[in-house]
Amino acid sequence: MKLAILSCSPKCYSTTRLREAAEARGHKVKVLNTLKFAIDVAQGDPDLYYRSKPLSHYDAVLPRIGASITYFGTAVVRQFEQMDVFVANSSNGISNSRDKLRSLQILSKHHVGIPETTFVRDRTDVLPAIERVGGAPVIIKLLEGTQGVGVILADNTKVAEAIIETLQSARQNVLVQKFVKESKGRDVRAFVVGDRVVGAMRRIAQGTEFRSNVHRGGRVEPVTLDEQYAETAVRAAQIMGMKVAGVDLLEGKDGPQIMEVNSSPGLQGIELATGLDIAGAVVDYIAAQVSFPELDVRQRLTVSRGYGVAELRIPEGSDYVGRTIVDSGLRERDINVLTLARDTTIIPNPNSSRVLEPGDRLLCFGKLESMRDLVPPKIRKARRPKVKNLPPEDRDSDSQN
Ligand code: ADP
Repeated sequence: MKLAILSCSPKCYSTTRLREAAEARGHKVKVLNTLKFAIDVAQGDPDLYYRSKPLSHYDAVLPRIGASITYFGTAVVRQFEQMDVFVANSSNGISNSRDKLRSLQILSKHHVGIPETTFVRDRTDVLPAIERVGGAPVIIKLLEGTQGVGVILADNTKVAEAIIETLQSARQNVLVQKFVKESKGRDVRAFVVGDRVVGAMRRIAQGTEFRSNVHRGGRVEPVTLDEQYAETAVRAAQIMGMKVAGVDLLEGKDGPQIMEVNSSPGLQGIELATGLDIAGAVVDYIAAQVSFPELDVRQRLTVSRGYGVAELRIPEGSDYVGRTIVDSGLRERDINVLTLARDTTIIPNPNSSRVLEPGDRLLCFGKLESMRDLVPPKIRKARRPKVKNLPPEDRDSDSQN
């Protein structure tokens, strides 16, 4: 395989280890400076230039995009995607991972643990939001902080309110998050490659510090994750569209709580803590997957008029309960079952002899009209009455013409 590692730090530990691991396995590898690309956008002919010359062919790309160059870096990765080159982390995945709110919003729809979090803007929403996440002590986070900067533990509600107002007046977006007390001063970093955790470590804060970031003096120790933690980490990376990810989890009393999914996880800490060849695992995975570049499934499956993807639910007492997929008649109605989700398990390409159970969720591709009666009705939540607002100013338009 010919591999490009996109990096602005060719000499750093992570890049060096990845390059060496690829070379040791007989692959061709180049470290390309992400900022030296030019992106040519033309109909049917997406192209890339590197240091002003047309880029030669690569089979795979491993993006290592730092937070300071997210916009340009993800544009380069997106261009490789348009050129059907395998990329280890999708441009969408990288963009999503850079915003703590966006990541948690995406994760919240799935069966993975996350700390209760709220995002508010209006002053009057601050106090109720603190209460909704369990009251003080409470965690306040800047949306785009890294290495523990911008993560504050507020001991009481008054202080929390004051901090939030101060940050908001400085035009900072902040999250209010439940303080997972039982995990105070420690968290777990799971290094996910594809569908497994290839190494994990626990980070333990120094003294009375509640943040366990190594940059804040935290120490690390290797840890073997139980199945629940490992599965949560892998699911989180998959949901976020990442094949190589550093998933940070808190050890809550009810199990793992995902804090963050990092798209350019450092290798130094984890390799030193675990003694494992993480770089080798990354390269082996990419080499095995190189024939399967990212496809935008939604884009490709909804091109035929009247066809699309839907999640169908088998309700209690429905005629489908107790029938096999083949006897369900779905296929005859032009519906294909892609996956079957039962509780927290997802069965890809379920066997046609599998018996349907109440509560099963079937991800299907097929004729929309045929699927209509199996799409679960929207459950409406009881809402508190809305406070009447003053006549609105137009604050929504991007521009005033
Ligand atoms: P960063 O991306 O800046 O590292 P994190 O969200 O990972 O920010 O938070 C930094 C550290 O603060 C974590 O490693 C963890 O030790 C601690 N922490 C963050 N959120 C919580 C929380 N909700 N409850 C308890 N500790 C937390």
